[in-house]
Amino acid sequence: MNRLYIAKNKEPLQMTLDLLNRINPLKDRDKDIKIGIKPNLVCASPASEGATTHPEIVEGIIIYLLENGFKNIKVVESSWVGDSTKRAFKVCGYEDISKKYNIPLIDLKGDDFITKSYKGVEISICKTVYDLDYLINVPLIKGHCQTKITCALKNLKGLIPDKEKRRFHTLGLHKPIAYLNALIKQDLIIADGICPDPYFEEGGRPHRLNRIVAGFDPVLVDCYAAKVLGYKPDDIKYIGLARDEGVGNYINDDTEFVYIYDEVHDMSDEPQIVQKDKKYLRLIDEADACSACYSNLVSAMEKLNEMGITDKLADQICIGQAYRGYKGFLGVGNCTSYFEKYLPGCPPKVDDIIKFITELCG
Ligand code: SF4
Repeated sequence: MNRLYIAKNKEPLQMTLDLLNRINPLKDRDKDIKIGIKPNLVCASPASEGATTHPEIVEGIIIYLLENGFKNIKVVESSWVGDSTKRAFKVCGYEDISKKYNIPLIDLKGDDFITKSYKGVEISICKTVYDLDYLINVPLIKGHCQTKITCALKNLKGLIPDKEKRRFHTLGLHKPIAYLNALIKQDLIIADGICPDPYFEEGGRPHRLNRIVAGFDPVLVDCYAAKVLGYKPDDIKYIGLARDEGVGNYINDDTEFVYIYDEVHDMSDEPQIVQKDKKYLRLIDEADACSACYSNLVSAMEKLNEMGITDKLADQICIGQAYRGYKGFLGVGNCTSYFEKYLPGCPPKVDDIIKFITELCG
């Protein structure tokens, strides 16, 4: 459906309820269907830091579903490689919601998987996904240091096993993300644009946007996210690839923007982030790095840049699975264990990277 619904400048729970009551997405659906809610709990960091979905939005969805007679609801998620989903459920406030409404939290890291094939590419998907009748995707409109943005399309990466997440990086991320979306249908998207980090997926630099966007087409939602985050849809390769696979459509002249509190608003009034030039990224030589690993290195480099240390760094830092078994000079992560100087860890922690580079430059 070529329409996006946008709520702005109220409390997250209120905006979520108002959006759902306006859209009425489950009209005429059997009350016994099994509904999965998929937030973005990439790491154990509260939503105020800009990395994870506000629990109030998921709470709003649960209240709406219960009030409308839907009781078979679960929250499903798998945090990124190296972090614990259970810890994220606790730190991000989802345990409290689970207890309050008696809704199970499913940590997909412990799930079995089913392998599906799409255009000759095999993709393992957590089994729980195939036990759902209706998937509500609740991503963030957020920056990402490898793919530039993450929103509805990339959030489905939390529905695959950790081993597959790593493999996605060896396949270049964009194509497998598009193919994953061709294999898993998301029925409704409620995208959190409250205070996302526009630059990094692990948060820490929240930017107040105070909006929630709802729709049925993940490509359309991601086009909106790209625009707000300062990009064009074609700047993010997987959005175009997903469109080419028939997952959804770009924003076009016929796209309708429904501002549920303010009918006179239009898309040209939307905020647009100006992306910073991160020169220190040129010091990183990345090849198939996992998100957590690369993100930790980029976070460390940003801090080292503020400390004036990146100027002293003469060598490029290699990171990623493609370096396994290869010799080199400077590396970060276990994949570079054959390098002359490398920092162990899978993934290494931000503080350890800062210490490692500082000592090297000292
Ligand atoms: S060390 Fe290698 S496998 Fe481990 S997180 Fe980093 S890139 Fe991924």
